[in-house]
Amino acid sequence: MTPDDLKQLVRTIPDFPQPGILFRDITTLIGHGTGFARSIDHLAERAAACAADAIGGMEARGFIFGAAVAARLGLGFVPVRKPGKLPVPTLGIDYALEYGADRLEIDPTAISPGQRVVIIDDLIATGGTALAATALLRQAGACVDHALFAIDLPDLGGADRLRAAGVAVSTLMA
Ligand code: IMP
Repeated sequence: MTPDDLKQLVRTIPDFPQPGILFRDITTLIGHGTGFARSIDHLAERAAACAADAIGGMEARGFIFGAAVAARLGLGFVPVRKPGKLPVPTLGIDYALEYGADRLEIDPTAISPGQRVVIIDDLIATGGTALAATALLRQAGACVDHALFAIDLPDLGGADRLRAAGVAVSTLMA
């Protein structure tokens, strides 16, 4: 299955989570055995080309793709978590959303200095989440220069913002 075939498996839900938003929902993609496997194949191929030492994935949908890619490549997985979930002292970053604010946290001992962490998430929109994850992982000593996403919403400019921060971006579909 090509990325174009995979795109047919993503459904678009109008007015979620609020009126006027078209939500790209991967539930149908990951619920399709071959579609999910091929998505992981494509992402793993790209992650391998980045010479990744580890994969970092954002809670929650980044865990689905990121953990599968990490296991496929025999790499460790660094969970970039929502606040208050980790049972150890954390490193955290607050960041702005279109409406409101959010926070991400990691266990800093999960990173070795200079380790190349490739970020994976289901989707990039404004890029705020991925930029925050990049800053956090870099603060912990990681080298973050590649990020992979199943879906890009190019009109929202996130991939360009991430590139401006020195992160090469690759996506399977727009
Ligand atoms: P950004 O921070 O604006 O780039 O938004 C990306 C983050 O929000 C990712 O962690 C996505 O999982 C989530 N997200 C934003 N819009 C959508 C969507 O339409 N479908 C699924 N996830 C979304």
